[in-house]
Amino acid sequence: MLIRHHFTCVLVVSVVIIFYLGVQWTARSYVRHSTKRHGDILQFSKEEKVLTLDLKRESRRSCIYPAHAPSDVPCRQNDLLEKRRILNETLNWLDLEKTLNASRTLAPGGYHRPVGCASPQRLAIIIPYRDREANLKILLNNLHRVLQKQQAEYAIFVVEQESGTPFNRGLIKNIGFIEAKALCHFDCFTFHDVDMVTESERNTYWCGKVAVHHARRLDTWNYRVLYTFLFGGVLTFNETYFSILNGYSNLYFMWGAEDDDLFNRMRKKQLKFKPSRYPRYTALKHEREPKHYKEKMKIYANNSQRMDTDGLNSMGRLYQVISVDYKPLFTRIYVSVNQTEIYTQLKHYGISLVNPK
Ligand code: UDP
Ligand code: MN
Repeated sequence: MLIRHHFTCVLVVSVVIIFYLGVQWTARSYVRHSTKRHGDILQFSKEEKVLTLDLKRESRRSCIYPAHAPSDVPCRQNDLLEKRRILNETLNWLDLEKTLNASRTLAPGGYHRPVGCASPQRLAIIIPYRDREANLKILLNNLHRVLQKQQAEYAIFVVEQESGTPFNRGLIKNIGFIEAKALCHFDCFTFHDVDMVTESERNTYWCGKVAVHHARRLDTWNYRVLYTFLFGGVLTFNETYFSILNGYSNLYFMWGAEDDDLFNRMRKKQLKFKPSRYPRYTALKHEREPKHYKEKMKIYANNSQRMDTDGLNSMGRLYQVISVDYKPLFTRIYVSVNQTEIYTQLKHYGISLVNPK
């Protein structure tokens, strides 16, 4: 009798253990499966009505933005239009703030967070800028609306270079990355030219393991992809990925190619990127800048040699932040660039330039 009772106990305990292990195994393989599904690029599809991404933030360092009551309820996805209407009327700043309802939807510095639900990631949108006010107003009018409809938590940074030195887009973007991180923890960084306006609300700026190239098909090119290694206009990275690239080169002045240089860094480091599933952009009109092809090729020629020493880790003496201004629609980071120091670095790599001005 005692033996039979003992046997029954062992049997029951074994069944419980086997059942428990079975549940654990099924749960793990489900998690593995969903991680794979969401791993690379976190874009909504129609089936995913609720954002199911990991809500745990990697860190909660001090942050300048107002704290809200934490919400564990993930934001529900709004219906996003595949083709949206672009708003391109010219408004003055006050009217623009009014039409965007800035006093209610934005905290100073152009920061937004959905109310009553948690957005999965915090996004830093970084716009390299000088002297393109008409473009900036149109971009902000469109971008704030799109990001808010996507239920994003984000801040917009306009990094403006002081006049007097030639424009240096790579350095300016690196500055945006460093200075945004100093203000708050961001999960994703989007570098956004001021003249690119997305044509789809579904073109989201979440980041995954790999970089995303958004502005691949422009209206001005009849939406054709000009070349496959195109890597300019609008790009999104996670923090680690951009740090592994060592950011952009700081050595290109206004003639471009810092984006081709970045593409090479990515390739050499065997990192990947994905084109956005909604890559159509309208390019806003602006004055054409002179291109200095010879100068640009001199620097581009030795980009593999420079990639680990020219970038995020060599910016110390290259710029100064003149002011940080929390405007209603964006944070303006106004900077001066030390051209002489950049020329010294170029010389160190055996590159001598005539002054691009
Ligand atoms: N840019 C700017 N002021 C300038 C030159 C460039 O603000 O004087 C910024 C701006 O964000 C712009 C980006 O750099 O969208 C790319 O420059 P541009 O539009 O001149 O390049 P392209 O049209 O030749 O791609
Ligand atoms: Mn342009």
